[in-house]
Amino acid sequence: MTNSKIVTRFAPSPTGMLHLGGARTAVFSYLFARRNSGKFILRIEDTDVERSKKEFEDEILDSMSWLGMEWDEDPIYQTQRFDIYRKYVQQLLDEGKAYKCWSTSEEVDAMREKAKAEGRKPMYDRTYREYSGPEPGGEFVVRFKTPLDGETVVNDLIKGKVVFQNKEMDDFIILRSNNIATYNFTVVVDDCEMGVSHVIRGDDHLNNTPKQILMMNALGFDVPEFAHAPTILAPDKSKLSKRHGAVAVSQYREQGYLPATILNALLRLGWSHGDQEVFEKEEMISLFNLEGCGKSPSVFDATKLDHLNNEHMKKMDQGELLELLKTTYNTDLFALLESDGSKNLLTALVDRAVKLTDFKEMASWYFDEQFQKDDSLVEKNVKPCPADAIVSLKNRFQDLSDFNGATAFGEIKAVAKDHEVKIPVVAKAVRVLLTGTMASPDMGIVMEGLGKDRVISRLSV
Ligand code: GLU
Repeated sequence: MTNSKIVTRFAPSPTGMLHLGGARTAVFSYLFARRNSGKFILRIEDTDVERSKKEFEDEILDSMSWLGMEWDEDPIYQTQRFDIYRKYVQQLLDEGKAYKCWSTSEEVDAMREKAKAEGRKPMYDRTYREYSGPEPGGEFVVRFKTPLDGETVVNDLIKGKVVFQNKEMDDFIILRSNNIATYNFTVVVDDCEMGVSHVIRGDDHLNNTPKQILMMNALGFDVPEFAHAPTILAPDKSKLSKRHGAVAVSQYREQGYLPATILNALLRLGWSHGDQEVFEKEEMISLFNLEGCGKSPSVFDATKLDHLNNEHMKKMDQGELLELLKTTYNTDLFALLESDGSKNLLTALVDRAVKLTDFKEMASWYFDEQFQKDDSLVEKNVKPCPADAIVSLKNRFQDLSDFNGATAFGEIKAVAKDHEVKIPVVAKAVRVLLTGTMASPDMGIVMEGLGKDRVISRLSV
């Protein structure tokens, strides 16, 4: 059942890839909606037509889907809503709550400079605020009549009470001279028209919030709840940025991390539940609350992702993991690992793999197309084992009706005894003949995973 009262939104601007900060905001908004059986809206804030790009939009939507954050209803595009914004701007003009301003940008710059020189806050001097003469003509912007006194209080669900003095705020622009509404205006109209109950976003927007609240009041809308999540820092405690390495979700995807890992890491950027580190998606949904969000900045440490990825890989359903490997590498090779006999092999590989990318390398010997033997390993490990021992092992395997890890290893022991060599001498030779490497999982698991026929064929040298 959908709780009609709880509505959250994620409102990316398609001017760049989905970075960790944006994705963390999306995770909080998404989980809060799901936790409360509410609605999660995706709104594409593409009003900056110069910088907005379709490729960024696709990348953002792809990353959202990859992370498993499904949104309700079709995404909303601000560029399709220009007329709606203009209608509300007109409403404020008609009610005397906004005004047209013909001051040129050079004039406004000069006002700001002057204010600075006089030790005041650089602001527009409100020349046209009470102007009622004939319209001077030419380009104009529309400005909001910010109250000249009083204060605006943000009762933030994460930051607590934050008080802003109205006199410190400019008469900010709500409609530019190109007839396009500004961010602070479009966001207000959209959040209110869409019934957003909780605006959850990064604290870089906290200073915009009082302006938005003032406009909501002026437009006669109910004010939603606000929750501003603290900044994300790099381990050196500076603001996380490109110079710290990968910052886009898709870069982590390419590096071979699971979506579950990135979702988990994003959740932990500012939210905690005791000292638990690993969360499954269902668990996140059942536990998430804004009370668990910390007030202070959180540190993103990419080196912690490996451990987390291994944890999630171990928890993952094996069928799903194989599907993911098949699609990641665009190959059906991994379908070979679907047989019952390969279950333990898959588990052994998962235990050691840190990323999906390692997985392919670690398992490469398993696929006939990729199987290669290292000559120096053959020299060192196969040569010391008598050739007739390998032949008799092959024959024993041939006759073995119940071929599995334990029975196959039993044959290795028997052959060692017959030929009066130590078990490791035979086992090492078999390992190199079967896997081409010395760094493979337990021999019983390897043999059972390859299956009788492939084992015999690889021993036929
Ligand atoms: N488009 C804005 C951004 O990407 C959204 C801000 C908001 O959530 O209100 O920063």
